[in-house]
Amino acid sequence: MANYSPYPVAFQWGEGVWLYDVNGERYLDALSGIAVCGLGHAHPAVAEAISDQSGKLLHTSNLYQIPLQEALAAKLTARAGMDKVFFCNSGAEANEAAIKMVRLHGHKKNIETPLIVVMEKAFHGRTMATLTATGNDKVQQGFAPLLPGFIRAPYNDIGAIERLAAEHGDICAVLLEPIQGEGGVIIPDPGYLAAVRGLCDEYDWLMCLDEVQTGMCRSGQWFAFQHEKILPDVMTLAKALGNGVPVGACLARGAAADLMQPGSHGSTFGGNPLAARAALAVMQVLEDIGADQKAAQAGQMLLETLRGRLADHPGVKDIRGKGLMLGIELDRDCGELVNMALQKRLLINVTAGNVIRLLPPLIAETAQLQQIADTVGEVVVDFLQDSRA
Ligand code: PLP
Repeated sequence: MANYSPYPVAFQWGEGVWLYDVNGERYLDALSGIAVCGLGHAHPAVAEAISDQSGKLLHTSNLYQIPLQEALAAKLTARAGMDKVFFCNSGAEANEAAIKMVRLHGHKKNIETPLIVVMEKAFHGRTMATLTATGNDKVQQGFAPLLPGFIRAPYNDIGAIERLAAEHGDICAVLLEPIQGEGGVIIPDPGYLAAVRGLCDEYDWLMCLDEVQTGMCRSGQWFAFQHEKILPDVMTLAKALGNGVPVGACLARGAAADLMQPGSHGSTFGGNPLAARAALAVMQVLEDIGADQKAAQAGQMLLETLRGRLADHPGVKDIRGKGLMLGIELDRDCGELVNMALQKRLLINVTAGNVIRLLPPLIAETAQLQQIADTVGEVVVDFLQDSRA
């Protein structure tokens, strides 16, 4: 189907931060398959775990106990300070589980039509519920009728949520990204997430954090909420959890962890032995290399280098980032930059029209980060010279 429009390049293999196309040309990956391959490509420990597991057992179904899934659940919940987890195969599915849990939470309080506060510019996925939660007309266009049960607030504006609370008695949750990814790498002010936490406590709402893009050390903490020293009630993960093997997870804490009961929800593949083994290997390597601190330090260095090169350049509005999640906002749409970088054998992304998004593998070394900054600097300067705001 024509739902993608791929760039004219096909990769055959990869190693660490490098990808090789079918002609043997080498590319530097500053995108990690959109925040998926945090450990880079063909990581030996992950490859070994997948290979070993595939020779033993791929799948049995959730009709039976799955010790590897239980081991992954224990490791993940301990890391996140959460109590229980439901496994699925993607970010959208993890958010679907979170949305279903909010409905259960509302009905338990005798609210017939539970509402979820979602954010402008949010991205939560492409299923019907998650595209409804997404704050982007392009994602929703053509798919009406959307689902009822969502109301929207501007991001990073606690007063807006307070006003909604005063107007609507049926609110049962807030669902948001701790840093908006697709929306343009938007980092909220310090204290915002803690203030959302405070409102959720005050009104008995579930604080649901979508960490599908920010989780697994990307932002310089294992989970981005840890920058604020708070705990959500529900957190979703996917992307980097399997480093390329499809794994999603919806974690919950306290009363929220007991909303799902036998029969409430399920997934044939969710948390199968292969997926669980891959995610266990990923978590082990992230722990072994101290990926959270690595991302924090590497991200700071990349941010400073990019600012040094581009901050004073007319046309560059802002350069921001947390860990290895960085955005360079220009004063004009710049999708063309992806092709310009591709010609220089660098993979980057442009999101929200005018924000260059960099999500390099967490294992990137200083010289490779320097190369990313150099090439991005060159293409941005060329682009700004040749285009108009
Ligand atoms: N949530 C966030 C914050 C995302 O960035 C994405 C994907 O980009 C999703 C959810 C959807 O994940 P998936 O494509 O695995 O369904």
